[in-house]
Amino acid sequence: MAGGEFALIEQLRSRLGKAGKGVRLGIGDDAAWLDPAGRQLVATMDTLVGDRHFFPDVRPYDLAWKALAVNLSDLAAMGAEARWCLLSLALPLRAAGYGAWMEDFMAGWSALAERYGVTLAGGDTVSTDGPLTLSITALGLVDQCVMRRDTARPGDMVWVTGSLGDAAAALDLALVERGQEGQSFPCSVAQQEALEARRLRPTPRLEFGEAAAACGVCCAMDCSDGFLADLSHILEASGVHARIALDALPLSRELMDLAGEDPERWQRWPLTGGDDYELILCAPAALSAALQRVAAALSLRLTAVGSIQSPNPNGQVAVTLTWRDQSLSLPSSWGHVHAL
Ligand code: ADP
Ligand code: MG
Repeated sequence: MAGGEFALIEQLRSRLGKAGKGVRLGIGDDAAWLDPAGRQLVATMDTLVGDRHFFPDVRPYDLAWKALAVNLSDLAAMGAEARWCLLSLALPLRAAGYGAWMEDFMAGWSALAERYGVTLAGGDTVSTDGPLTLSITALGLVDQCVMRRDTARPGDMVWVTGSLGDAAAALDLALVERGQEGQSFPCSVAQQEALEARRLRPTPRLEFGEAAAACGVCCAMDCSDGFLADLSHILEASGVHARIALDALPLSRELMDLAGEDPERWQRWPLTGGDDYELILCAPAALSAALQRVAAALSLRLTAVGSIQSPNPNGQVAVTLTWRDQSLSLPSSWGHVHAL
């Protein structure tokens, strides 16, 4: 990137790299010098590739928000306090440069970073012949324990924050609008905007994740690939089975209105859609009141959706789905769901 690279880094430094908590030395030297002040570090990284993870015409504001949010969501799932980020930008060379693009990108980034006190402490900037690619490393702090995937125990309840399926429904709409394969359905402008906001600008559940860990929750993960797929990671890692009540899954008002009388549709979005960035928690029922208090204080919906059970006698880890207490068989088109 030669000359342009330095101007760009200076833009990032002055806007996003202001002195933050625990930053001894930020953007501008060979590496960042960070002070976890005796606490323990939690680190995560996610990469977003243009045309694969986002539409190439995405607004830079939304791209920055989402790229940061998906990383912060991983910290939330561990119960960590988010502190610092590193940003690798691989930018395709463009005649017009990145001035206006970067302004909008930084606005989206700072909207989220300032809300959670996350400082951009460093990164790398290169040009590429390939698609725009962003890699973000997020660093957070914990005092003692993290919430993990391998600690669900029979008897635990399963909770989900927020609502599921909005982003998947919005993606269907966006794909149809672009003439790509997706499910078409009637939708008002207001409904579409609400769903699209959830797809483009997910909210990492950082405050809740940290508070849940402080309440004693040991098992959580964030829901990024679809509720069933992500829950199955917990079940496999913990060697347990789960019973999930489909009629308890939390749906937004918009999704309830859209799904209407079509159960196949409303099951598929929350169960197998992705990009929700809600937290799935497994913990003893004794923590229920404390968790609900935390959620209420954050105006966050927290829904009990099922329970953890011992694995089958043959050791098979699986999910039993129920509808009004009756076991349910899913559409055969969901073959992978049965395979859980
Ligand atoms: P070096 O050549 O020593 O790796 P660079 O020229 O790549 O240094 O980067 C100079 C400084 O700018 C470093 O502090 C680096 O962390 C920071 N930096 C570079 N690119 C970014 C970026 N995309 N976001 C944040 N900081 C960046
Ligand atoms: Mg470099």
